[in-house]
Amino acid sequence: MARLEIERIPVLQDNYVWLAREADSGAVAAVDPSVAEPVLAAAERRGWKITHILNTHHHPDHTGGNLEIKAATGATIVGPSHDRARIPGIDVEVSDGGSYDLGRERAEIFFVPGHTKGHIAFWFRNSDALFCGDTLFLMGCGRLFEGTPEQMWNSLSRLRALPESTKVYCGHEYTQSNARFALTVEPANADLKARAAWVDRMRAEGKGTVPGTMGDERKTNPFLRADVPAVAAAVGLAGADPVKVFAEVRRRKDVFR
Ligand SMILES: [Zn+2]
Repeated sequence: MARLEIERIPVLQDNYVWLAREADSGAVAAVDPSVAEPVLAAAERRGWKITHILNTHHHPDHTGGNLEIKAATGATIVGPSHDRARIPGIDVEVSDGGSYDLGRERAEIFFVPGHTKGHIAFWFRNSDALFCGDTLFLMGCGRLFEGTPEQMWNSLSRLRALPESTKVYCGHEYTQSNARFALTVEPANADLKARAAWVDRMRAEGKGTVPGTMGDERKTNPFLRADVPAVAAAVGLAGADPVKVFAEVRRRKDVFR
């Protein structure tokens, strides 16, 4: 099976829409289209026809282009069953443990509530690609708008268990500020220091940093490391339950400037 070809489309302030093409069938998915026009234009530049829209959650900066792209292309909209009422134009509902085939490439569905109560992620095992919306960011995670720390920790723990080679295609370019915060939690983490320096170089050159790999996330993302003793100690909670540690790291990030 051919792996997905994936193109990054930066839109709005810091959103990423992803175009994913399965070459054997010609199926092309727009993942979390914030807006329609730049996504349609990017597909056209490549000679790709959008056949699907994959939505991880209902927020307008992830679904705002749904109806216009569907009207222009006839694309099938796939989204979380928990949020069927909040996904514009939804055609196919998917839920935890289920799957969806984009042409010949299969996405396995993870229910990952926390940022919103209906959030899902699409994992294309054969392509080593995870589309995780606003659940996991490089060195960060989404704000808890609708979920609890326990839900988000469980969600992130499931994503963390994917293979280290998994590429993390998230919904925003927040990496540099996330790295600055992560360094306040783990200033002595050598992997983190090296990665933060790389991010600074990339951003200085005006380049995007996404995707990253799950292996790098495990080593550098404080939100995936709430069960690491050094992280618990760093937030004054040595020996505490990882959910409590996670909640404290998240609280500190919420007020970090
Ligand atoms: Zn969101």
